[in-house]
Amino acid sequence: MKNFAYAKADTAQSALSLMSRTTNAKFLGGGTNLVDLMRENIEQPDTLVDVTSLPFNTIEELPDGGVSIGAAVKNTAVANHRLIRQRYPLLAQAIVFGASGQIRNMATVAGNLMQRTRCLYFYDGAARCNKRTPGSGCDAIDGFNRMHAILGASDSCIATHPSDMCVALAALDATVVVEGPAGTRRIPFDEFHRLPGDTPHIDTNLRPDELITSVQIPPVAFAAHSMYRKVRDRASYAFALVSVAAAIAVEAGSVKEVRLALGGVAHKPWRAREAERALTGAPATAEVFRRAADDELATALGFAHNDFKIELAKRTIVDVLSELTAAGDAR
Ligand code: SF4
Repeated sequence: MKNFAYAKADTAQSALSLMSRTTNAKFLGGGTNLVDLMRENIEQPDTLVDVTSLPFNTIEELPDGGVSIGAAVKNTAVANHRLIRQRYPLLAQAIVFGASGQIRNMATVAGNLMQRTRCLYFYDGAARCNKRTPGSGCDAIDGFNRMHAILGASDSCIATHPSDMCVALAALDATVVVEGPAGTRRIPFDEFHRLPGDTPHIDTNLRPDELITSVQIPPVAFAAHSMYRKVRDRASYAFALVSVAAAIAVEAGSVKEVRLALGGVAHKPWRAREAERALTGAPATAEVFRRAADDELATALGFAHNDFKIELAKRTIVDVLSELTAAGDAR
């Protein structure tokens, strides 16, 4: 690991000021991904600005009935919070399905958003990887790509985003609130993470001098009837092959409202808008759920080892929607 300087900020302004005065600096939260990347020499900051003492560690109800989650709140605290469990159960479930208990106890909300892909070639210094070394190539495309993307990939990168929590936040239309030299900026969740295109080394639309301060979730009445399903190779501490975050409201046998997002399939949490369009107003039947899944995955493309994910994603969508509606939860 390269030597680095360490500075501790006690206010957002001091954190931003430290960031503006130093070159090649990174904010440090729980460090559960960043420190790993530093050990592997993938991230090589000259300075770490520790933001763990900033006052962004509360979960509060918003005047409109939504919820604001501070950037420094630990993943475990989010999953256990009464407001989250009551109003957004899919979010609590998604967090519990992620990582291990020890990691969830350390990892922060902002760090979860900023974590980088777990593509094995990204971590292998001997491999070609456009995300680690822009312009070098991508050894995953013709390599072992079982865990890789089937939607929104490019000739430069087929990596997936590793987060479970972010898939639920995508379904819930969350907003990422950030502070920067120009003041406060609100980024719709769907615009926070990026598809790889020809710049896969840039994961998010957060500017280098901006600090995440909170994530806000709007009121979604029917989100109390929701579910996160994660399909993976083993029962715990594994990344998703495919995951589905869903909330659905059914009235008189038809889908009144639905939110659907997929994980493990793209460079960013994948909001399934084609499926949502096909489902809204249609009868809540398994046949309709399957047609909507077919629509969503119509542009999906496998890379040999991950072809199975296309059918797996469709079946998981159908299974989750069928379970939510058959249980009577959504009616
Ligand atoms: Fe690197 Fe992306 Fe290719 Fe993985 S898929 S080797 S992260 S460029």
